[in-house]
Amino acid sequence: MNIKAMTLPEVTEAVKALGQPAFRGKQIYSWLHQGVRSYEEMTNIPKDLRARLAEKYPFTTPQVVRKQESKLDGTIKYLWKLSDGNCVETVLMRYHYGNTVCISTEVGCRMGCAFCASTLGGLVRRLEPEEMVDQVLFTQVDSGLPVSHIVLMGIGEPLDNFDNVMRFLELINSESGMNISMRHISLSTCGLVPKIDELAKRKLQLTLSVSLHAPSDEVRNTIMPVNKAYPTEELIEACRRYYAATNRRISFEYAMINGVNDTPAHAKLLLKRLKGLPAHMNLIPLNHVEESPLKPSTKAAVAAFQKILEDGGVSATVRRTLGGDIDASCGQLRRKYTKTEAAQ
Ligand code: SAH
Repeated sequence: MNIKAMTLPEVTEAVKALGQPAFRGKQIYSWLHQGVRSYEEMTNIPKDLRARLAEKYPFTTPQVVRKQESKLDGTIKYLWKLSDGNCVETVLMRYHYGNTVCISTEVGCRMGCAFCASTLGGLVRRLEPEEMVDQVLFTQVDSGLPVSHIVLMGIGEPLDNFDNVMRFLELINSESGMNISMRHISLSTCGLVPKIDELAKRKLQLTLSVSLHAPSDEVRNTIMPVNKAYPTEELIEACRRYYAATNRRISFEYAMINGVNDTPAHAKLLLKRLKGLPAHMNLIPLNHVEESPLKPSTKAAVAAFQKILEDGGVSATVRRTLGGDIDASCGQLRRKYTKTEAAQ
């Protein structure tokens, strides 16, 4: 196993197996989670031990291939090259409550949502736990900005990479690591029902975000293939079970698509479907993706939709667009880069 994917007890065991005292484990773990690029930077570790570690537990770090900073709001977007040459994106957003990093969980995605740039080339591979940790760490190191919040809303479907994502959460939450509180983490899923149930069992205090995007199978089937496996009503039932198990309010994402899911009738049906479930609705005006014919809803349609939800007792906010000048919505930068690379 990659040493950066090991928990503190695992690193400690590994170090003890090399005949070293246990406290070295904590020192090394703490260095790794500060974003060092080699063992040489671990200045309080004896030189010969550094050399043995480098031989037995080599590790790599991601390289920045593109960095774009929004002039509008300071959002920074990174395109990283991983050790096997694949690329993923990370976005740092600056909010009044702290800096939030949006990470990718897979290289590409196999969910096939009609409006999403990340899925256009399909799934290449899943990310390892340390590749997710590195996105947070090296965004912090490179930008010099402390990260307090994480959203798993970049490229990929986190629940389709369940075990690696669970290990990532354990690492990022650990006291000797970045120590990011579960309450500052949001995990977004397109709705893999059995995995939502599995997550519920862990009773984590993170926020579960569900990409609903439609109130009925009739609409959802046309934009999200996953709905054929886990229909809308089953998904909402899973959300009810999740709430019952964790007592955490569900956050729903709803990308507003002109003429597809944005009429008052859709809003009313949504209210009916969500009845009794403590939820927050995030309305996101669709980000236009070059390859897709789908268009964002008008401002008036979004406002009318929001009002129906609010009047019906469901809190609903319209998500502010950040990084509008840097293609900050997920999958777009990697897609452009891969296309230009392929053309060369
Ligand atoms: N696979 C996960 C997380 C990644 S996407 C999921 O489906 O939830 C993060 C959010 O952005 C999801 O709600 C996704 O549906 C939404 N999204 C993707 N493409 C979009 C676009 N072009 N405009 C608006 N939202 C989009």
